[in-house]
Amino acid sequence: MTDTQTRTPFEQVLLADGPGAMTGERYKESLRDGREVWLNGERIEDVTTHPAFKGTVDRLAELYDMQNSDELRDTMTYVDDETGIRISKSYLLPRTLDELKEKYANSHAWMRSTWGQLGRSPDYMANVVVGLYDFRDELEANRPGFGQNAVDYWKHCAYNDLALTHALGDPQIDRSKSVLDDPDQGLKIIEEREDGIVVRGAKQLATLAPLSNEVLSYLSASFAVREAEEYVLWFALPMNAPGLKILCREPLGDHQHGHAHPLARQYDEQDSMLFFDDVFIPWQRVFLMHDGPLALNGLRRITPWAGYSSHIRFEQRMKTYLGVASLAADAIGVSGFRNIQEQLGEITSVVEIARLLTLATEAQHKVTPGGLVAPVSSAAVGVYSANISSRVQEILRKIAASGLLMQPTQKDLENPELRPFLDKYMKGADGLGVEEKSRIFRLAWDLAGDGFGQRQELYEYLHRGDVARNLIGLYHRYDKSEIIGRIQELVSSPLPE
Ligand SMILES: Cc1cc2nc3c(=O)[nH]c(=O)nc-3n(C[C@H](O)[C@H](O)[C@H](O)COP(=O)(O)OP(=O)(O)OC[C@H]3O[C@@H](n4cnc5c(N)ncnc54)[C@H](O)[C@@H]3O)c2cc1C
Repeated sequence: MTDTQTRTPFEQVLLADGPGAMTGERYKESLRDGREVWLNGERIEDVTTHPAFKGTVDRLAELYDMQNSDELRDTMTYVDDETGIRISKSYLLPRTLDELKEKYANSHAWMRSTWGQLGRSPDYMANVVVGLYDFRDELEANRPGFGQNAVDYWKHCAYNDLALTHALGDPQIDRSKSVLDDPDQGLKIIEEREDGIVVRGAKQLATLAPLSNEVLSYLSASFAVREAEEYVLWFALPMNAPGLKILCREPLGDHQHGHAHPLARQYDEQDSMLFFDDVFIPWQRVFLMHDGPLALNGLRRITPWAGYSSHIRFEQRMKTYLGVASLAADAIGVSGFRNIQEQLGEITSVVEIARLLTLATEAQHKVTPGGLVAPVSSAAVGVYSANISSRVQEILRKIAASGLLMQPTQKDLENPELRPFLDKYMKGADGLGVEEKSRIFRLAWDLAGDGFGQRQELYEYLHRGDVARNLIGLYHRYDKSEIIGRIQELVSSPLPE
């Protein structure tokens, strides 16, 4: 039995020391903890070996080893002055602009290595925990002890370098109704005890849940209305907490077809429903209760660093499209055509705008009330990414055209009877062999077609929450007083002769 396995979930809950930066082996071991994962009607005993998860687990393990490599150790980790523990920079609490830039370099290493495909890489949620720490004073005001819980939770996650998932949304039952009409639509406290609370209900959509160590749940804005405040609750739990059930969607990484699905087989980060079947949460893991306006304010306050990580990922994802679209155009001899160059130029402009937007959020940084240096957070950046992504996917589909689908499988390539035909009729332009050509188009299919590509696109559009709601919020929060004042002055003054 390992140390992790002998501790109960709640003994682990209270741990605030740890071995520091995660390694691949330790990560895999941490997932073998008796968690209740359901896939296709069956309970999964070990996600590290099951074919639906193994590819992504192995890839994440490689990334954790990468952060301990000689080459990247100092880019991705730092030694904590207080404890001497080597900590991932995803958990670094930036107190200067230089430290914010160090976080940039760390996120960049994660996102570049993963082609921008892991929206919920551990780097993302670690940065939400940074935000939770930053919001500690406001949480303490909500209830004495909650602020300290946030500080302790940051220590617990940072010192153990935990991978987190998060679950904000409520089950998609009937959006025209609220929890006031149907309490099953929200996660509810059913018992308050001396040592903690018991919750019942469901949450969606927890990306990476079966491959995470913990879930951080902070309520969606929809419940931040006065009548439903009993549903407002922020808490964290280990994924093996008794009563927590993780229901996975259909897996997208297919290992059965040779060189097919090169991205899906490594970056299917799984999305899950979480069912809380009377789950106990110790008070040490509760951060906020029953205060809708504070929860709404908190949603904005805790996310700037995760948003920064997400913009860095978005640039890398768009860059992957640019690379694959360029190679696909070359592979079929269309890259000399003006219309194709214009389309490639359009993707390039998105890559550049994404890079510049991230740098702009950094340049506009500010010191938060919690004392950290935060990049400026604007819904405008998120909305731009959400909307432009489908256009980039569409361009790749237009350029690659039927080649997205019509490629030989690896077994076709290995068949000596077929091979002469493939070499002759399925090769590419300028002497490009059929093997390399088909590998390029397999990548394109993963990005622009198939289940994985569509899931990635849905993720890009929705992961920051409802785009319409974000636009409406942006409009209301934007300071229009100066321009409205000037226009009112203009229309009330006589026009020049
Ligand atoms: C791939 C993927 C990964 C995700 N990962 C995570 C994650 O890790 N953690 C997490 O918490 N969430 C995650 N999400 C959830 C994401 O935040 C939501 O999908 C998003 O907030 C939209 O909510 P919904 O899907 O429930 O849509 P719904 O709220 O059901 O909306 C459906 C449609 O109805 C419209 N609508 C809904 N309510 C109203 C209303 N009152 N008035 C007018 N129109 C309305 C919406 O605009 C939309 O067009 C993920 C989603 C996806 C697709």
